[in-house]
Amino acid sequence: MTERTLILVKPDGVARGLVGEVLRRIERKGYKLVALDLRQIDRATAERHYAEHHDKAFFSDLVDFITSGPLVAGVVEGDDVIVAWRTMMGATNPVSAAPGTIRGDLATQMQLNVAHGSDSVLSAQREIGIFFPDL
Ligand code: UDP
Ligand code: MG
Repeated sequence: MTERTLILVKPDGVARGLVGEVLRRIERKGYKLVALDLRQIDRATAERHYAEHHDKAFFSDLVDFITSGPLVAGVVEGDDVIVAWRTMMGATNPVSAAPGTIRGDLATQMQLNVAHGSDSVLSAQREIGIFFPDL
């Protein structure tokens, strides 16, 4: 089924010059970019985006990190792209992310794991609404 997902190249990925690498994988896979923007988000936006993690011990560090510099936000469209993009990113913890995945190939630390992807149709709708309310 054709779906849309929010993707982020997080501030660590932008700072390391990995935007092209991440977008290259999306385009080569065959997905379509329908929105793309380099921006720095404020704390209120970050707290909305990561609301599900509000009570976790890592929440404030995560908000510090995601607001620490510019990120690239995008909306990607394609067949079953929500699950497929998460497969392409690999496990949240780069230590256990499979080789060949973004996190498996490009990251070493849990927080600094380069990319984000929505985890369900509902999350995708919610997150796209936060980053691209006009879509
Ligand atoms: N994160 C962290 N410490 C943790 C778990 C997560 O710093 O113990 C960060 C990490 O950057 C992760 C983000 O919080 O990508 C959101 O966590 P989630 O469990 O939603 O992982 P994701 O959906 O990004 O794979
Ligand atoms: Mg998540």
